[in-house]
Amino acid sequence: MEHFDVVIIGAGASGLFCAAQAGYRGRKVLVLDHANKAGKKILMSGGGRCNFTNLDAAPKHFLSDNPYFCISALKRYTSYDFVELVDRHGLEYVEKAPGQYFCEHSAKDLLNILLTECEWSGSEIRLDTKINTIDQLENGFKLATSGGQIQCESLVVATGGLSIPTLGASGFGYQIAEQFDLKVLPRRASLVPITIQPTMKEKLSTLSGISLDIEATANGVTFKEPMLFTHRGISGPAILQISNFWQPGDELQLNLLPDMDPDAHFKALRQDKPKRALETELNSLLPKRFVEVMKQDVPWMTKPMAELSNEQLAQVIEYLTHFDVQPNGTEGYRTAEVTLGGVDTNEVSSKTFECNNVKGLYLIGEVLDVTGWLGGYNFQFAWSSGFAAGQFV
Ligand SMILES: Cc1cc2nc3c(=O)[nH]c(=O)nc-3n(C[C@H](O)[C@H](O)[C@H](O)COP(=O)(O)OP(=O)(O)OC[C@H]3O[C@@H](n4cnc5c(N)ncnc54)[C@H](O)[C@@H]3O)c2cc1C
Repeated sequence: MEHFDVVIIGAGASGLFCAAQAGYRGRKVLVLDHANKAGKKILMSGGGRCNFTNLDAAPKHFLSDNPYFCISALKRYTSYDFVELVDRHGLEYVEKAPGQYFCEHSAKDLLNILLTECEWSGSEIRLDTKINTIDQLENGFKLATSGGQIQCESLVVATGGLSIPTLGASGFGYQIAEQFDLKVLPRRASLVPITIQPTMKEKLSTLSGISLDIEATANGVTFKEPMLFTHRGISGPAILQISNFWQPGDELQLNLLPDMDPDAHFKALRQDKPKRALETELNSLLPKRFVEVMKQDVPWMTKPMAELSNEQLAQVIEYLTHFDVQPNGTEGYRTAEVTLGGVDTNEVSSKTFECNNVKGLYLIGEVLDVTGWLGGYNFQFAWSSGFAAGQFV
């Protein structure tokens, strides 16, 4: 039987970061993962360039049954702390949108920093290892793994969420939670493309690949970002963001003219350019292929502006500012970036991430019911929670 002070299940973002922190404290740390490579999601993230943090990683950018839970960890290890760490390693990065940091070259550079930190701290990583059973001992845990029996004092569950099973995602963290009688809240795929009803899908089939700036609203929350039409439905930042808030059965409101007062715009245009066809104007505001689709519903849009009544203009404005869709679901865990929901945060201390009722058992990262918006927030929670637990394991 091998002995370690700390065993961490999951060599992903939170697990690797926690391992380094604990290792630097002089703890003997082992990270186990069933995948053949550490940090697979990191490598895939941010289009291969990993949006590794957001300088505005405040609690308002996270969803959880307990919105206060993440405050402590985010305060104790901030995005500025993480940026300071990657600076020390000489990582080259870019700020793509305000506060949103991506690797300049490749997510591999970020993963290498985590692996270097693990190495420097003396933490060991074992891949291709299946954990068969976990038993609680009087003072720790015993794991039966495909590589033999391992005993440890602290056990950290850093197994992430369910999204993208081909990258190693599994429900193992939730199984462990259930084994130790921890409450697991309902989960669903999020930061995910939305699929739409067949008739609408058919109508929009020619638009696949088109991106436009929109405002997406669901349940009183609005995001103004680009949307992308796909052959399955709609995607792009605005849709991924709103998928955190949209609930099955809800309508999704899309405003395709987010940056203007359309009523004033079209009325002024009718006055100033009466001979201009509405279609010509729309072609200057929206992708041409979209205007073609719209023509099926608004055939009179080929007419000059002067011939259009106030009522007709109002109809056009309604069409474009309420291009609402009735989604029939999402693309699910196959393409989702995160799992919304998870292990109830009331089960763990917001300071140490240790379970309130199971001494020595810690849960960090996405396995918990803490989900960030799109924009580097999810990785920041992985670093902050990994750091917090790393001080106590
Ligand atoms: C395509 C994609 C792009 C993303 N882009 C971004 C981004 O740019 N910015 C951002 O902030 N977030 C992004 N995310 C979300 C982010 O990757 C996760 O929130 C983050 O990785 C969670 O960290 P974690 O440590 O909790 O889990 P993970 O990083 O997922 O690590 C979990 C680890 O546990 C291992 N594991 C699972 N089951 C078992 C088991 N049974 N036995 C042993 N090991 C197991 C897995 O193999 C994995 O290595 C993206 C996600 C995806 C899928």
